[in-house]
Amino acid sequence: MRLYDTMNRRLRSLIPIDGTTFRFYCCGPTVYGPAHIGNFRTFVLQDTLRRALEMQGVKTFHVRNITDVDDKTIRESQRVGQTLEYFTGRWTRRFHRDCEALGCLPPHVEPTATGHIPQQIAMIETLEKEGHAYAGADGSVYFRIASFAEYGRLSRLESRDLELGRSSAARADADEYDKDHVADFVLWKARREEDGPNFWNSPWGEGRPGWHLECSAMIREYLGTDFDMHSGGVDLVFPHHENEIAQSRCACGGQFAAHWFHITHLMVDGGKMSKSLGNLYTLEDLEARGHTAAELRYVLLAGHYRRPLNFMLDSLRDARAALARIGRAAGALRERAGMETVPGFDELAGREVEHDPFAECWLALNEDLNTPETFGRLFTALRGIRAADLSKEEASVAAVALYRLLAALGLDPDSRRAEVEDEAPEAVRLLAAKRWEAKQAKDWAAADTLRDEIAALGWVVKDRRDGFAVERKVE
Ligand code: AMP
Ligand code: ZN
Repeated sequence: MRLYDTMNRRLRSLIPIDGTTFRFYCCGPTVYGPAHIGNFRTFVLQDTLRRALEMQGVKTFHVRNITDVDDKTIRESQRVGQTLEYFTGRWTRRFHRDCEALGCLPPHVEPTATGHIPQQIAMIETLEKEGHAYAGADGSVYFRIASFAEYGRLSRLESRDLELGRSSAARADADEYDKDHVADFVLWKARREEDGPNFWNSPWGEGRPGWHLECSAMIREYLGTDFDMHSGGVDLVFPHHENEIAQSRCACGGQFAAHWFHITHLMVDGGKMSKSLGNLYTLEDLEARGHTAAELRYVLLAGHYRRPLNFMLDSLRDARAALARIGRAAGALRERAGMETVPGFDELAGREVEHDPFAECWLALNEDLNTPETFGRLFTALRGIRAADLSKEEASVAAVALYRLLAALGLDPDSRRAEVEDEAPEAVRLLAAKRWEAKQAKDWAAADTLRDEIAALGWVVKDRRDGFAVERKVE
């Protein structure tokens, strides 16, 4: 697998430092509301990289944090009158539900910022002792960027840019900052009135850690000083990742991340998503319109991660058709092969397939995670395969190869039906069951009325040979 590295500005092979396990960190969500589909572009791409490595026999160790204390979580929890813990717990659960629906594997460790306050304080103490940090008059503590010569290397920031930033920002925020240099960033924020009960004791007085610090502290705890990869959306390159590097290298030594994987932003209707434009979608918003998480995942993978991806609702329809096409091919191969069950992820991981009809897809995936090219080659390969022409053995090889590729992409062509049926509310299921009974009794008028009632609730009932299914109506 070769992947573009933001630090070195070129494609580099991903080879685990310890020779066995690819150990990586992803900046996780700030849990003050539902994650939007842009956030999920980043999380789905990170998940796909992990899946692709695991499918090819590389073990991974994935750490992703939960930001459960910052200005936004504190402000929003207070606005709705909930404790920070209760409030962030709720949004964390929602995030997990969305991740699961989107087929994102849970990270091996998912630490929280509030669960690692002592580690963060210890890190500031080290930085202060070594002359990289200083306390302001109000009890806030800052990182002195002038003390780290390599500051700005990741984002190619010139000291000139910092100077420019200093003159404009200094004018704007002269009173707010109690720092030696305007680019110095906060490690510890002194307690303020608006923080309410959300503060911790420290050697510098009551307060809370600055946002950048949590990742450095958790990385030290779970990955040590040197690890294989760090990742996030492009907006994190500066200042967040630049600051993480500075804190970690100065406090712990070591080289920090060997590789930097940044995902370009998702745009909607050609621009930035925003609440005021009404184009900030969550997974739930799309589901309410009759789309599925699998369709969203497909759309998110249909663009290359290094290019902006413009999201349009229409693309979800195309995704449905593409998934149906893949599902039909998988079904035909399985039937021809006499395969009763779909092989699971663990069963497929590390399994080699000789004469893999999808070998070209893997080449695309392994060259900078080129998912759109992978899809293109997948459909080309599928056009060349007719299950009916294959022997049972050939069909079995092709089926395993296809499921292996789909497992790397996190797409399960068989899951859609079950997913949709499970979601139907009780009232809809009850009406559908009644309609089924009416049909068995050949009471066609009653069956039709019930069908209309179900439709009025936004669902469609479909007859099957051995029963029925309900699906959301697509707008
Ligand atoms: P946040 O919850 O804001 O901390 O963001 C979680 C992750 O989503 C981070 O890696 C961000 O860089 C990423 N992210 C934010 N907005 C977008 C977007 N529009 N497209 C892709 N990734 C994004
Ligand atoms: Zn981070």
